Amino acid sequence: MKNLIKIAYRIVLFILLTILTQIGGVVYLASLIIIKQWNKKLRFKTLIVFISLYLFSTLILVPLVAPLFGREKVKHSKKINPANYMTVLLNRNYVTPELNDLLRATIKELNGTAIEIHYLDASFPFINKFPLLPHLSHNDGKKIDLSLIYETKNGDVSNKQKSNSGYGLFENPKQGEYNQIDKCIGNGFIQYDFSKYLTLGEINKELVFSENGTKELIENILKSSDLGKLFIEPHLKNRMQLNNNKIRYHGCSAVRHDDHIHIQLK
Ligand SMILES: [Zn+2]
Repeated sequence: MKNLIKIAYRIVLFILLTILTQIGGVVYLASLIIIKQWNKKLRFKTLIVFISLYLFSTLILVPLVAPLFGREKVKHSKKINPANYMTVLLNRNYVTPELNDLLRATIKELNGTAIEIHYLDASFPFINKFPLLPHLSHNDGKKIDLSLIYETKNGDVSNKQKSNSGYGLFENPKQGEYNQIDKCIGNGFIQYDFSKYLTLGEINKELVFSENGTKELIENILKSSDLGKLFIEPHLKNRMQLNNNKIRYHGCSAVRHDDHIHIQLK
């Protein structure tokens, strides 16, 4: 019985680590094999081996191997960074080289402004169609989520976020604005605002949504001929007076997009 529980525990852990980081499950299996060969008595032996192997894989091995599968890490620069470094540690920062080019071209266009790109989930490093949950479509390196732009009460663009994860802090429809969220939830798509559970805590409460900053970011992304689609909630599209047929509605079966922008290549 004790053995059965141990096996079940290992299977659950393998699945969870795989869902969260793609390589975590395999690294866990490798750690179990290593500690079996390693007779030294040590507290937290599995954990120590797992963390060492995981960090080595994530920070050194995977970035070297991913290009063989057509993907690479999002290239960081002074103005392109993850909203939360956990995105990198969980291997959720892989894109095709074309998407890196698009980000770089956008930041070049934004030269002279205070606007930076803070990215959220992209794709895992390997295997097309391998889902990056909870997203429906981030499975081919061609999609990435970006933070909205915020500003201080005085209207100065800030490069801070309003939630620790970068997700789940919504810029709700104002009175009189079209409310797609109520419509989706009213039609039974109760998952539509589930990202509210993913904030990992609210921060920088003094900041407000920057209509001009976010509009400028989006307009410069739209300049790229490689861009296929951009998703943002309809009330924000209307508020920012954005009119471009690459800005599409993602549908009620996705989640609301008034806490982040989703972009994807053609
Ligand atoms: Zn997305």
